[in-house]
Amino acid sequence: NGTLYVVATPIGNLGDFSPRAQQILREADLIAAEDTRHSAALLRHFGIATTMISLHEYNERRRAELLIARCREGLSVALISDAGTPLISDPGYRVVRQARQAGIEVLPVPGPCALVAALSVAGLPSDRFVFEGFLPAKTGARQTRLLQLAEESRTLIFYETPRRLLETLQAMIEVFGADREAVVARELTKRYETVQGGTLSFLFNWARQTPESGRGELVLLVHGAEKKQDAMQQEALRVLQPLVAVLP
Ligand code: SAM
Repeated sequence: NGTLYVVATPIGNLGDFSPRAQQILREADLIAAEDTRHSAALLRHFGIATTMISLHEYNERRRAELLIARCREGLSVALISDAGTPLISDPGYRVVRQARQAGIEVLPVPGPCALVAALSVAGLPSDRFVFEGFLPAKTGARQTRLLQLAEESRTLIFYETPRRLLETLQAMIEVFGADREAVVARELTKRYETVQGGTLSFLFNWARQTPESGRGELVLLVHGAEKKQDAMQQEALRVLQPLVAVLP
């Protein structure tokens, strides 16, 4: 059997394209790419002429069968996405799963990933975190998701479109509180790279006054909720609060 390689590509700066990633893509028999036209430009720049086929969310099941058949014939196949690490808010999960189930060797060629890059410079606790990908676009569904995360104590990481940044910060202020610490990491590794931290309300005002924050690509990181006070403290508060209210 051939091998299925899952290959990371740059998230902006082409200097981050690792020599090993380039070599694997050059030597592969077939590259499955999200947007073949987009990736063709990148590969051409690096003199990689390997045949490409498209792999989207909607054709992933069928494509998986084809890719696995190629591996079974002894060909080596590389999987890439438009930017960064495949499968991370990008297609590829089904292909990898089916390939592993079929006994095909699946190997990573690690490299850029926006969430890891953002977390590595955000200055938020990084020992435990949850990656939430993109929040639902619809207001109600987004609110529900945020409510589910309100008590989460691990650092929260979201991908967000700049167009929705203000709206999302507003929704987060409502659910997490205006004083929750957060970081916006935009255009990482690119020319107008910015990492801005502050409370959610500070970031909301910053985003409103900074037109660039509405363009490009960004990762939004939010400090986890402070751990709930222990049960006894809570019980004491529950009893005391109504009393405090009626004191003169
Ligand atoms: N697979 C990619 C990865 O490994 O990070 C992510 C793909 S996802 C479709 C694209 C999202 O990643 C963008 O909307 C943005 O939230 C984030 N992103 C990608 N490149 C970025 C960059 N250079 N700076 C900040 N965020 C970026």
